[in-house]
Amino acid sequence: MSQRSERRGIHVDQSELLCKKGCGYYGNAAWQGLCSKCWREEYQKARQRQIQEDWALAEKLQREEEAAYVSSHSSSQTQPPQSHSQPSLATFSKFEEKKTNEKTRKVTTVKKFFSPSSRTAPKKESHEGKTPSPSITRQSSIETDRVSRDFLEFLKTLQKPGREIHKQSRAFIESMGNKKDLSAEELSECVQDFYQGMSDRLLNHFKGSSEKVDRVMDQVEKYIMTRLYKSVFCPETSDDEKKDLATQRRIRALHWVTIQMLCVPVDEEIPEVSDSVVKAITDIIEMDSKRVPRDKLAFITSCSKHIFNAIRVTKNEPASADDFLPTLIYIVLKANPPRLQSNIQYITRFCNPSRLMTGEDGYYFTNLCCAVAFIEKLDAHSLNLSPEDFERYMSGQASPRRQDDPAAWLQSGSHVNPALSQIHHNLSVLSNLEKRQQQVMEGAQSLQTELAEWQDSVAREVQEILERYPLEIKSRASAIDAENVENDRLPPPLQPQVFAG
Ligand SMILES: [Zn+2]
Repeated sequence: MSQRSERRGIHVDQSELLCKKGCGYYGNAAWQGLCSKCWREEYQKARQRQIQEDWALAEKLQREEEAAYVSSHSSSQTQPPQSHSQPSLATFSKFEEKKTNEKTRKVTTVKKFFSPSSRTAPKKESHEGKTPSPSITRQSSIETDRVSRDFLEFLKTLQKPGREIHKQSRAFIESMGNKKDLSAEELSECVQDFYQGMSDRLLNHFKGSSEKVDRVMDQVEKYIMTRLYKSVFCPETSDDEKKDLATQRRIRALHWVTIQMLCVPVDEEIPEVSDSVVKAITDIIEMDSKRVPRDKLAFITSCSKHIFNAIRVTKNEPASADDFLPTLIYIVLKANPPRLQSNIQYITRFCNPSRLMTGEDGYYFTNLCCAVAFIEKLDAHSLNLSPEDFERYMSGQASPRRQDDPAAWLQSGSHVNPALSQIHHNLSVLSNLEKRQQQVMEGAQSLQTELAEWQDSVAREVQEILERYPLEIKSRASAIDAENVENDRLPPPLQPQVFAG
C-alpha cells in the first residue's frame, strides 16, 4: 500500500517551500511565496507606486470636493457626493488583501482631510482601547525588566559596540512609540529596516563574524520585541483577529478528521508516540505565550521535532518530509492553537529575517504556514472522502465514528489513546471510592441516630423510675437524737469507773 498515492491532496514539493525568485531561501505565503529579502524589494517598489497613486487620488478627491462644495453652495443643503470611494483600487491586484486594506485605510485618511462630510467615516480605535488586566500588566513589566537587564549584561561583554547597540535600540523603541497608527505592514517595515541597518553596521563597522552578528541580533530582537509586543501583536489596524477567528472556526468544523483520513503515519497506541503527540500539541499551543518572535519559532521547532519523533517511532525509520506535513496538519487540527494567524503574522513581520529564510527554524515555520494553508482548503479529495460524506461531516449531520459499518466503529473504538483509558480507569476508581465514602457516611449517620435513641431511652427509664419512686424529702430525720434539742442538758455519758480497792 502506497501512502503517497492515497495522500492525494496533501503534498508539497520541497522546492515549493523555497522563494519563488529562486534565490534559495525559504519563501512564505505571507510574502506571496517570496523570501523576506525578495519580498521587501517587491514591497518597496509597490510602496513607491502606491505613494504616487495616493497622491494622484488625493488630488482627484480634492478637485471633486471642491466641485461638490461649489455645487452644494449653489443648491443649498445638498450632501456632497459619497460615491467617490475607490476609483483606482482595482489596479492593485498583485498585493491583493493587505494592500487593499492599507489602501482603504489611506483613502479614509485622505478623505478625512479633504471631505468635511466624511468626518464620521469608521475609524478604528487605537490600541489604548484595550485594557489588559492589572495582573497581566504587572507580569509583563517584570518580564520586560528582566529582559532589559539581560540585554545590558549581554552588551557589557561587547564593550564599545555594546553601548552603541543599546543607544540605538532605545532610540528605536522610542521612535516606535509615535507610530502607533501605522499599518501592520508599515510597522514591520520599520522593524525590518532597523534590523537590517543594525546588522549591516555590525558586519561592516564592527567587523563581526556573521555568526556573532546573528547572536547579537537575536538579543536585539528579544529586547525590542519584548517592549513592542503589546502595540504590534495583532494590531487593530490589521485584520489578524478576524483571520484568527476564521481559522479557529474552520479547525473546529474539521474536528471529525481522523488520523486515517490524513494518512498520518502515527500510531498513538504506542506510549512513546502518544507522548510525543501530546508534547507537540502542547508546544504549538504554548507558542502563543511567548513575546519574542524567535521564542515563538523555538516552540514551532520543538513541536516539529516531537512530530518527527512520533513518526520515527511508529515507522521504525526516519521520518520523511512527505510524512511530516500531514502530521503537522493533524497536530494543528488537534491543538487548535490560540491566535494562530496572529502569531504567524507576528513572526513573519517582526522576526529577524535571517532566522526565517534559512536554518531549521525557517524550514519548520514555512511548513507550519503550509499546514495552515492546507487546513483552509482541506476538501473531500484531500481526505479521500466522497464529496457527499465530506458535506455531511462538515454540517454535523453525520460523524465518521458513528458510521453504519459497526466494524469500523469497533476498530476506531480499539484505537483509544492510552491516556484516555488511564483517565477512564481513574474515573472508575474514583466513583468506587465515592460509593464507599457514601456507605461510611450512612453508617455514621445510623450510629448517630442509634446513640440519640439510646440517650432518649435512658432518659425515659430514669423518668419512669423517678415517677414510680418519687423522692420524698423528709426534714432531717436521720439522726436518732435529732429531735433532742436540749442536748446540752443531758448528763454526760457514763464514764467507766474504776473502783480502787
Ligand atoms: Zn528570495
